[in-house]
Amino acid sequence: MTVEYSVRIGIDADFVMTINGESVGGANVSDVYNPATRSVIAQVPVATRDDLDRAVEAARTAFLSWSATPLAERQAIVSAIGDRLEEHAEDFMALLTAEQGKPRAMAEWEVLGSVAWFREIAKQSLPEEVLEDSAERRVISRHTPLGVVGAIVPWNFPILLAVWKIAPALVAGDTIIVKPSPFTPLCDLKLVELVQDLLPPGVLSAVSGDDELGKWMTAHEGIAKIAFTGSTDTGKHVMRSAASTLKRITLELGGNDPAIVLGDVDPKKVAPQLFWAAFQNNAQFCNAAKRVYVHDSVYDAVRDELVEYARTIVVGNGADPETQLGPIQNEPQYRKVVEYFDDCTANGYTFAVGGSIDQAAEGWFVPVTVVDNPPENSRLVAEEPFGPILPLLRWTDEADVIARANDTLWGLGATVWGADLQAVERIGKQLEAGTVWLNEVHQYSPHQVFGGHKQSGIGAENSLHGLAEYTNHQTVTLNKVTGAVS
Ligand code: NAD
Repeated sequence: MTVEYSVRIGIDADFVMTINGESVGGANVSDVYNPATRSVIAQVPVATRDDLDRAVEAARTAFLSWSATPLAERQAIVSAIGDRLEEHAEDFMALLTAEQGKPRAMAEWEVLGSVAWFREIAKQSLPEEVLEDSAERRVISRHTPLGVVGAIVPWNFPILLAVWKIAPALVAGDTIIVKPSPFTPLCDLKLVELVQDLLPPGVLSAVSGDDELGKWMTAHEGIAKIAFTGSTDTGKHVMRSAASTLKRITLELGGNDPAIVLGDVDPKKVAPQLFWAAFQNNAQFCNAAKRVYVHDSVYDAVRDELVEYARTIVVGNGADPETQLGPIQNEPQYRKVVEYFDDCTANGYTFAVGGSIDQAAEGWFVPVTVVDNPPENSRLVAEEPFGPILPLLRWTDEADVIARANDTLWGLGATVWGADLQAVERIGKQLEAGTVWLNEVHQYSPHQVFGGHKQSGIGAENSLHGLAEYTNHQTVTLNKVTGAVS
């Protein structure tokens, strides 16, 4: 099978699972598509239960020595994995564009961001805390690794969201098995394969398959923790299934991020920022601004500037250098996005720009679309379309817009935009979201805690809080005076 991306050093066209340090194919394979052309670009193995069992067994065995490996050594290896990814960055960018659809600039952000994540997480540690050290007693609080982690990854940022799990798990002393999304398995399989010589066998494995494989992982007796990024519905399945073995879980789920635009903005300046807040990664972004509330006094001007800017955006095959937004990543998601367009049309909402999909296009392309002030209870406002169709909504009263912004089961991110910084901050601090960006958006850091409020998730990734989720807390007390030996 030929693949459509350029083949250079280190990345060949075979995609295999990695189990116990060995490359493993499968009797069954599944197709991987380029969403810009709807053509099959590669095939990947479909893991059997036996494959998963072997990966878990190898990871459990490897855990014994990996967890005892000095922290500095583990950190150096994690950093070296970042170096290895950097050496092959161009290949990964091309591969990411081919399987995910995102254009070069976004692929670069994701791949080089992943390199930075490996290096920065490699600097983190959770030192022992000495709570008491007297003549009589020594009491410490420490972190111990959990065991085997199962990482379940979505298709919108296939590399970065795997790295957010691999790096802290390895630093913490856990071993990890990565399950990529069935829609975007290529980069993850290749990354895990490419770094095996840096690690003892079984420390980092990858298995590919469909959603069933995810279910087997969440129920598996040998897995101690599931690190999951995906939709809120699937997150609930993960939590239910993980309950049977009381697995630790980190759930990074969906969102319906509000953006609140104050009346004192410069419409021309804010429009491009709002555009990218909403449409980056073709709006297939957990943290995309999904509802933009614009103050009535500037609503028309902001809408018009946004529309004018949107008209300049080139949507196309991510492999073309001039492309700014790619296709929808997969067919089921495309069908879902089409439904939101149909719903808006059927209800007579006004499209300020876009609105009509050419379903005969070569790829799963959808035009950038802005819907002018649809009702608050419309599907477009209340749900998570996860595609480039954005509702613009009017507001006049501050308390009311805050209530509307918070009136959702989600709480992942939020933004506020305005010249009056006190007002911006005052409003921002009242928003129920794990990350609130003020006059900026999508600024992430390995040292910044990331997680959702409400039904956007449980737990956190990144920062020492995220690292701690790959560990147990342990208190160790030593009575120096009345010990059993005295
Ligand atoms: P999804 O929930 O359909 O799939 C995510 C992963 O879970 C895939 O690997 C899939 O194979 C697996 N899976 C599916 N069913 C499973 C089950 N029953 N048990 C275990 N695993 C199962 O999500 P998606 O469509 O790939 O991604 C889009 C969603 O992810 C959006 O809702 C988006 O907001 C969310 N997301 C959240 C974040 C975040 O950090 N909070 C980041 C990116 C995406």
